[in-house]
Amino acid sequence: METKRAHLTSEQLENMRSELIVRELTLQQDLVADSHAADVEEERGDEADQATLAVAHDVAIELRGRESHELQLIEEALRRIDTGQYGTCEDCGHEIAWKRLRAVPSAEYCLHCQERSEARGVRASMPESES
Ligand SMILES: [Zn+2]
Repeated sequence: METKRAHLTSEQLENMRSELIVRELTLQQDLVADSHAADVEEERGDEADQATLAVAHDVAIELRGRESHELQLIEEALRRIDTGQYGTCEDCGHEIAWKRLRAVPSAEYCLHCQERSEARGVRASMPESES
């Protein structure tokens, strides 16, 4: 794989790095808080609330799964900043638009490849706010 220089300025890279680190810390705290909340709910086993709790529990697990996944993406993005691969699509090797990176700092694919993988049924891990 050829090593291409990132199209982003070092200022932009540092910008994204701090955003990713902030997001990483937030997620780590959320994950700790979530697992704590789930424990508390399990101890409070009121029969009338069993169904509600079961649903809440499932949601918590799903949310935790999504957060862990995002955390992973963020760690990978931080690694790509270090290796100079950040902002380059993992699939087609094209530049990922700055606007897209601003919206999804951990984006590893360009919009085109992301949409293609979503079309194949791979679930998006990030909200897409750009159009
Ligand atoms: Zn691509």
